[in-house]
Amino acid sequence: MAATAPGQAETEAMPVRRKKRLCKFCKKNNEAKVVYESHNLRDKQGRVVCRKLRQLTCRLCGATGDDAHTIKYCPLSDLVDHAAIMKLRREIEMDRMMKNRRRYTRKS
Ligand SMILES: [Zn+2]
Ligand SMILES: [Zn+2]
Repeated sequence: MAATAPGQAETEAMPVRRKKRLCKFCKKNNEAKVVYESHNLRDKQGRVVCRKLRQLTCRLCGATGDDAHTIKYCPLSDLVDHAAIMKLRREIEMDRMMKNRRRYTRKS
């Protein structure tokens, strides 16, 4: 009875929707699949769609909302002295280390 070729049935069932939505930012942040596949990172105009990214403010150029991005993707990161970025990173690391150290050195 099954006269239809399996291949044909498959193509019929599949909607022509090649472009999958995917938010790289959410994916990188280990969000659930339903979250990062529910939206794109940016729309066609290049504006940020991702709510989480929109909330960020770039530490280098202060961009936020439509223009939001992480330091790594900041257009200024090429212009700005890399030492500045390293300094920022070091500050974050130091801060983290200090917090850890406080926990470990507490011996009395
Ligand atoms: Zn997102
Ligand atoms: Zn920036």
